[in-house]
Amino acid sequence: MTTMTDQARLLKTAIPGPRSVALHEARAQQVARGFGITMPVFVDHADGALLVDVDGNRIIDMGSGIAVTSVGAAAPQVVERIAEQAAKFTHTCFMVTEYEGFTEVAAALNRLTPGDHEKRTALFSTGAEAVENAVKIARAATGRPAIVVLDHAYHGRTLMTMTMTAKNVPYKEGFGPYAPEVYRAPMAYPFRYDGDEKACAADALAKLKDLVLTQIGAHNVAAIVAEPIQGEGGFVVPAEGFLPGVVEFAREHGILFVADEIQTGFARTGRMFACEHEGIVPDLITTAKALAGGMPLAAVTGRADVMDAVAPGGLGGTYAGNPVACAAALGAIETIEDDGLVARAAEIERLVKPRLEAMRAESGGRIGDVRGRGAMLAIELVEPGTTNPAPQYAQEVAAHCHREGVLVLVCGTYGNVIRLLPPLVISDALLEDALDVLATAVRSLA
Ligand SMILES: *Cc1c(COP(=O)(O)O)cnc(C)c1O
Repeated sequence: MTTMTDQARLLKTAIPGPRSVALHEARAQQVARGFGITMPVFVDHADGALLVDVDGNRIIDMGSGIAVTSVGAAAPQVVERIAEQAAKFTHTCFMVTEYEGFTEVAAALNRLTPGDHEKRTALFSTGAEAVENAVKIARAATGRPAIVVLDHAYHGRTLMTMTMTAKNVPYKEGFGPYAPEVYRAPMAYPFRYDGDEKACAADALAKLKDLVLTQIGAHNVAAIVAEPIQGEGGFVVPAEGFLPGVVEFAREHGILFVADEIQTGFARTGRMFACEHEGIVPDLITTAKALAGGMPLAAVTGRADVMDAVAPGGLGGTYAGNPVACAAALGAIETIEDDGLVARAAEIERLVKPRLEAMRAESGGRIGDVRGRGAMLAIELVEPGTTNPAPQYAQEVAAHCHREGVLVLVCGTYGNVIRLLPPLVISDALLEDALDVLATAVRSLA
């Protein structure tokens, strides 16, 4: 239905171009400055993995709007279903009158999420809202107050979820006091652990158990909430065995395990959900981001007995599970399944990881770690030959890529990680081109 934009990077002006610069100046007069900006270009349209800006530059998108547009920025099945639904009605409020799309998305999530137990799903609008509601549900189901989270965690920007988030600047600075009953355990972060991966997992698990048993009391803990691969915190893949150990410990003590798959879900890591890599079955799972191909939609899916601990009226929201967003989700899920995007994400890993390893080999010790799964991959930049974070290198590499028309994102507690989150529909040619630019950027650090 859309004419395909010529699938190649193209620079017509400097980046940002004159129109983007003018629009950015106008924005500053109107928009609260609390919204940061990664790459100050104004997008005119987007197609697959290319963003076309108002100056006519074609930028390779290696961020997917932070893991949202996994099926592309205007996937035909998403666009068609949105148009069809919008023409019928845009809103009723699911708590007022019902519509089928909500049930259909719930059924898809109950079918696709890990575990074949009986499940129920509640839909919301944003990821933070899903995490907030997972906490509410876990507390209602257990009658316990405490929530345990990990170092480097990111769970959102609302009061509860910013409290659960680890990093102070910019997410928490000046916004306290924070919500009570949130406790933080160490993360099994192999690159930052002095020892092998097995010891890393065992050590972090022992510390988490100690925190729960001696400082909180296991009978006070409603849930342990963890990202199966940490997103904003630096694409940290937990040491193998850590998360299964956490789940086992939680089960022994009647504590619910909540997997926050908001960034990792929907094929991103080469599985439909990242929990599958270690065979973990969470009691509750939160999703958002790629769920609805760019429309705001989020969900909590989990064990029927846990979900139904909340009485009618206890969950909801005016826009929760908006019908247009539900239509988009059905289109996005259909695209992921029909186009084999789970396998495509695994293929992207096979293509990209060796290239990142090659960059590390010739980085003079500046790339300390290459990690991630599927199409969620990252390099951690450090002072040559050490593990000391080098955020200035990450900034330089990102700036170089942006100037060349390749959108990459920076993340990490120390701001020293370049993360790659390309749309899963990206072509090999665009991917190779983006990696060539990244390799040049890393080389220019020397
Ligand atoms: C993005 C993100 C959130 C918050 O989602 P919003 O839609 O921005 O509220 C929560 N958890 C994780 C793991 C995320 O990546």
